[in-house]
Amino acid sequence: MGTYVITGGASGIGAAIDAQLRSEGQKTIVVDIQQADIVADLSTAPGRTAAIAAIKRATHTELSGVVTSAGLGSHVPDKGLIASVNYFGSVDLIAGLRPHLAEHRASVLLISSNSAPMETNSAYVEALLAHDETRAIRLAATMESQPVYSGSKQAITRWMRRNSQAYAAESIRMNAIGPGYTRTPLSAAVENDATYGAAIKQFIESIPIGRPGLPQDMADAASFLLSDKAGFICGSMLFVDGGHDAMLRADQF
Ligand code: NAD
Repeated sequence: MGTYVITGGASGIGAAIDAQLRSEGQKTIVVDIQQADIVADLSTAPGRTAAIAAIKRATHTELSGVVTSAGLGSHVPDKGLIASVNYFGSVDLIAGLRPHLAEHRASVLLISSNSAPMETNSAYVEALLAHDETRAIRLAATMESQPVYSGSKQAITRWMRRNSQAYAAESIRMNAIGPGYTRTPLSAAVENDATYGAAIKQFIESIPIGRPGLPQDMADAASFLLSDKAGFICGSMLFVDGGHDAMLRADQF
């Protein structure tokens, strides 16, 4: 049995992944801004640095995997914060842990979104990928919230794909899941949002499987991708979205 670190594990998808792994007999360490084994604010560089140091201390003998589920939805008024938590809060954490992950041959699972392929501001995505947090925040402030959110998820997925070969060469297997609409406190807030609420309700009704996602759907996919059964899966983005991506982008493949 192994030890897994889960950011954002205090709520929603991260909490379900935490519970699933513990039910399988794994040890888990939750990193979150609230109710966590390691309390850290992943929106800031000092918060990320502190989280990396605390994770290394807590897993110095063993580390099997890291899941980055900490994230903010498009309902959050501070759009720069969405970029900082969703992109830099994941990427900086994984990059900062890279030698430690390599030492333990640990795997990485990023929680992206099925909104990642959606149209967004390419300059904003390029700023994220160039690791220019100041520029990304500045551009985010000029954009609508939904493309800020989906752009953060597009960037993190592209970062994963760009880096999966180099990480694999160091025995770190990296993948992502792209949840569709999933019932959590985050999605409830977006559903109740004055700007996006009505569109989200229509979106939920159009899910091919005929129901919204549940955190457990994501936990089951995460458990598989982190396990040895997924040992040959590397650099993949698995859509766990009831068929929505296939419906919306059937031929973009
Ligand atoms: P959630 O709000 O239930 O959980 C998010 C967690 O992140 C919370 O525990 C929160 O405290 C933590 N967090 C927020 N800001 C933080 C910070 N600065 N530092 C540390 N931790 C912080 O949301 P969720 O729906 O479970 O979302 C989890 C991930 O899944 C997010 O990355 C989200 O973008 C993604 N996602 C969710 C959905 C959905 O429909 N729920 C769909 C696609 C992708």
